[in-house]
Amino acid sequence: MAQLTDDCFAFSGPLLPIAEAERMIEERVSPVVEIETVPLGAVRGRVIARDIVAPLSLPPFDNSAVDGYAVRHADLDPAKETRLTVGGRVTAGRSAARSPEAGEAIRIFTGAPMPKGTDTVFMQEDCRVDGNSVIVPAGLEIGANRRLAGEDLRAGSVMLPVGRRLTEQHVALAAAVGLTTLPVRRLVRVAVFSTGDEIVDPGAPRPAAALFDANRYLLAGLIERIGARPTDLGILPDDAERLGQAIEAAAAGHDLVLTSGGVSTGEADHVRTAVERIGRLVFWRVGIKPGRPVAMGVIPGPNGEGAAFVGLPGNPVAVFVTFARVVRPLILRLAGAETEPLLPLPVRATFAYRKRKGRREYVRVKLVRAGDGGIDAIKHAQDGAGVLTSLTETDGLVELPEDLTTVAPGATVGFLSYAALTD
Ligand code: AMP
Ligand code: MG
Repeated sequence: MAQLTDDCFAFSGPLLPIAEAERMIEERVSPVVEIETVPLGAVRGRVIARDIVAPLSLPPFDNSAVDGYAVRHADLDPAKETRLTVGGRVTAGRSAARSPEAGEAIRIFTGAPMPKGTDTVFMQEDCRVDGNSVIVPAGLEIGANRRLAGEDLRAGSVMLPVGRRLTEQHVALAAAVGLTTLPVRRLVRVAVFSTGDEIVDPGAPRPAAALFDANRYLLAGLIERIGARPTDLGILPDDAERLGQAIEAAAAGHDLVLTSGGVSTGEADHVRTAVERIGRLVFWRVGIKPGRPVAMGVIPGPNGEGAAFVGLPGNPVAVFVTFARVVRPLILRLAGAETEPLLPLPVRATFAYRKRKGRREYVRVKLVRAGDGGIDAIKHAQDGAGVLTSLTETDGLVELPEDLTTVAPGATVGFLSYAALTD
């Protein structure tokens, strides 16, 4: 089924740096190959499968950017006002009946085609009308208030390159040139399991020592948000045998199998054991906090192909962070999407923080406008990896690089909004 060779993710170090994980994903995972032709109304979020060449220029014809009077610039007196006879009228959606003769202006409205021979448009606010004449001021440059054909987009140029993830803006562009469908790669299929004897589904009775499942809901939403298709496969018990069977079955129909829980070193953490039985686990510790236990591997399938496997930690905040920093790049790579590096924006820390070297840490913060106009990042009071409200009551994450060990109040730090991390 999927797009991974068995030597993916070969890594033997103890704590894989995030940059290394990203590099492996980029180098060793190849995108899904199937292409679908999808109507414009349903392409948002999909990934362009081959370069799309513009079939039409935008705008398609020279037209007026304002309501006013179209003239020949050569008719104007460069030193003083010019009186022109209004020789016609053209509105949007129509063409001028004739081109103006020397000394004539054409009444024109926004979007109407430039009458043949005219090159410049006066805004009506700058003109005086006197009977059948219009008096225009001196000093307007040639070409003013005229939109040239192709100044937005040239027919024949690549308007949507292969790998582009389509937003509403791209859909609008495709519509503007008259396209009705676009070739996109098929959706990446992601199987999602929760694991843990203590996890029950919302709506089911909850034994005293049980927790309702938050992670499957979090993950399904995050997967959909980046344009992939989640399959909800429910909750698995802490049992390596049953975990292995379920993961292996899921691998046959999916590009990626994603679990949460059961990957740390506790005695009941059977996900690693299960994956080692049915496939190959390549690393299970990433230099990221929260979220250090992230297992990544390959479940082999027929023809030497296999599904990717990622075992996320159980704590919901760790799930969120590791999804954003490890799973999202993997899914986008499977989807064949071009990706831009995340750009942390500078904000001012109001908190002190100490961290270990060699690990990238993420601090949940709320942003406020400070008295001096700057933007302050206020750290959430609780930083446990299981505190879900720390995600709902904040705006994003401050990213503290591997080399850093301390943050002092007032320091400039890099902020990533939740939207930037999940879109
Ligand atoms: P684990 O790595 O399985 O030990 O899980 C770490 C913590 O996350 C434990 O407190 C679990 O109860 C919790 N947890 C695991 N899976 C979920 C889930 N699907 N929803 C909410 N909490 C979970
Ligand atoms: Mg567990």
